[in-house]
Amino acid sequence: MKIFCIGRNYADHAKELNNPVPKRPLVFSKLPSALLVNNKDFYLPNFSNNIQYEGELVLKICKNGRNVQPQFARRYYNKITIGIDFTARDIQSELKKKGHPWELAKSFDGAAPIGKFIDIGDMDVKNIDFSLHKNGSPVQIGNTRDLLFHFDYLISYISQYFIVQMGDYIFTGTPAGVGKTSIGDHFEGYIGDQKLLDCRVK
Ligand code: ZN
Repeated sequence: MKIFCIGRNYADHAKELNNPVPKRPLVFSKLPSALLVNNKDFYLPNFSNNIQYEGELVLKICKNGRNVQPQFARRYYNKITIGIDFTARDIQSELKKKGHPWELAKSFDGAAPIGKFIDIGDMDVKNIDFSLHKNGSPVQIGNTRDLLFHFDYLISYISQYFIVQMGDYIFTGTPAGVGKTSIGDHFEGYIGDQKLLDCRVK
């Protein structure tokens, strides 16, 4: 199982971190040990003073493929949920300055909580509302119409470099509103009105 992630896939978020809007998808990955399922608690690591939440839609791959053409990409994912791409922003800033890889900032244990998957079925994938709530208030509200690179394009792009395999996940990028988290925070993730993720920070 692999976890692909996309950086800067919503223009409003790229702007809030003073990053340029990319011309091609920014792809990175998390290790399987970063995954946090079944609404397990997230333990704030002590190596960072600025762990930030990034609420993101997460796709589940249902078919193996290489060099998938965009017009066929929809066949390769069938489930969706909301997850959090936890990021040690202080470490990431240091790594970015040096041009180093991001693993220490993005792929630590528990850095990828995911909610309960629902079938995409005949959902309009270009118009999915989602939101992340922190301690009862919405902190991030997104809709897939604002994606810079849509799901089909991402799968096509990723599969040029890596085989996409049944059971892989793709974190599709975060909208604006990311911020710091602390012990005691309670996150809830929604697609539409449906709550799929519940995660407490310990
Ligand atoms: Zn992210």
